Amino acid sequence: MAYGNGRSYGDVCLNPDGVLWTTKGLDHFIAFDDETGVLECEAGLLLRDIQQTLVPRGWMLPVTPGTQLITIGGAIANDVHGKNHHVMGSFGDHVLALRLLRTNGEVIECGPTEKADWFAATVGGMGLTGLIAQARIQLRKIAGPWLETENIPYTNLDAFFKLADGSEAAWEHTVSWIDCMSRGEGRGIFMRGNHVAAQEGPQLKQGKKTVPMVPPISLVNRATLKPFNFAYYHFQALKSGKSRIHYEPFFYPLDNLLEWNRIYGPRGFYQYQSVVPRPVGQDAVRAMLQEIARSGEGSFLGVLKTFGSRKPIGMMSFTQPGVTLALDFPNHGERTHVLFARLDAIVRDAGGRIYAAKDARMPRDLFESGYPRLSDFLQYRDRGISSAMSRRLMGS
Ligand SMILES: Cc1cc2nc3c(=O)[nH]c(=O)nc-3n(C[C@H](O)[C@H](O)[C@H](O)COP(=O)(O)OP(=O)(O)OC[C@H]3O[C@@H](n4cnc5c(N)ncnc54)[C@H](O)[C@@H]3O)c2cc1C
Repeated sequence: MAYGNGRSYGDVCLNPDGVLWTTKGLDHFIAFDDETGVLECEAGLLLRDIQQTLVPRGWMLPVTPGTQLITIGGAIANDVHGKNHHVMGSFGDHVLALRLLRTNGEVIECGPTEKADWFAATVGGMGLTGLIAQARIQLRKIAGPWLETENIPYTNLDAFFKLADGSEAAWEHTVSWIDCMSRGEGRGIFMRGNHVAAQEGPQLKQGKKTVPMVPPISLVNRATLKPFNFAYYHFQALKSGKSRIHYEPFFYPLDNLLEWNRIYGPRGFYQYQSVVPRPVGQDAVRAMLQEIARSGEGSFLGVLKTFGSRKPIGMMSFTQPGVTLALDFPNHGERTHVLFARLDAIVRDAGGRIYAAKDARMPRDLFESGYPRLSDFLQYRDRGISSAMSRRLMGS
């Protein structure tokens, strides 16, 4: 199966005992139209290289996730989302066409109106319909690289939902860091931002830091989590207010700390990202935070965000109208899995789903209930392709 830049957290990009096709060499720009903002490129091109080339020319990708170190193929195959889902939808909403290579030698050109069924299966199709070789993408016009942003501390979930609802009309980017160690109350820092036409702003700091080695045990543990989250909340609350920020630190805060995953030690970590429908969203998020507090497990990285009402193009896309919670947990074996089983029960009861790009362990029944178009999707699978994830959740 195709391997982009391996930035998925689980086994969606892995194929133990099988072949991986690295797409690193498929990294060419093919054409760009400065008038319309339509980019044609190969699928192994990194989002970073697109942004660094085209932002100075006044164009940007309309949707990007929390890292730009991913490929176009990976962005389409997981139909990734960003902080502006309520305005722009997900990555696939901006793909005009793609070229799919199948292991039987077929080449399928598809898009939202041409062979739309193949397009809907491939966007969010986790690399299982074939190899995406090229894509045509509609970029969005920007006046410059800066955003006007505002950080607002909040002390409970009610306040979060008021801020999220109240920001949707006027703010393109909204997201929040949530302190999952705050006993189910859900205090956090709400962040919102808009692109600005300013000609001046802070320049990018040069140089990246690297976590130099894998420590023998996870640095994220019971002793460090609570004080870290407490300190982070209060530090960010002190810095709250408006500021002008370059797009790179705003969108991709982790890209400046290379090998950050090493802090979790040799056993690594899991991310647990779910989305639940909005009417039951607040109760479900509260219940998840309470389970986490009860379990004694915890996370540095808690992200809470509302998705807009736009339905995704892909049959297997993750986004759906509702609220999404993403948390990184150090891998403590059985203890962590017991917590995940409790979180799964909440997501299942709420009619939600887990994000396959971030998953390595969801039970099959939750996958099947969360993705009701699975049986349609299976008709488009490339029989020559499978992954650890497809074998775990689809049986082949
Ligand atoms: C710090 C960080 C923050 C993140 N934030 C977000 C976020 O905000 N929102 C979000 O949605 N995701 C987020 N992610 C997840 C990430 O965006 C996705 O997992 C993305 O798909 C990874 O792309 P990749 O190029 O590394 O692909 P890989 O991880 O290598 O592969 C992902 C899938 O794409 C398939 N694939 C890759 N290339 C092709 C191709 N050419 N043809 C067919 N299939 C292909 C693979 O087979 C696999 O199924 C984040 C990840 C990190 C590390």
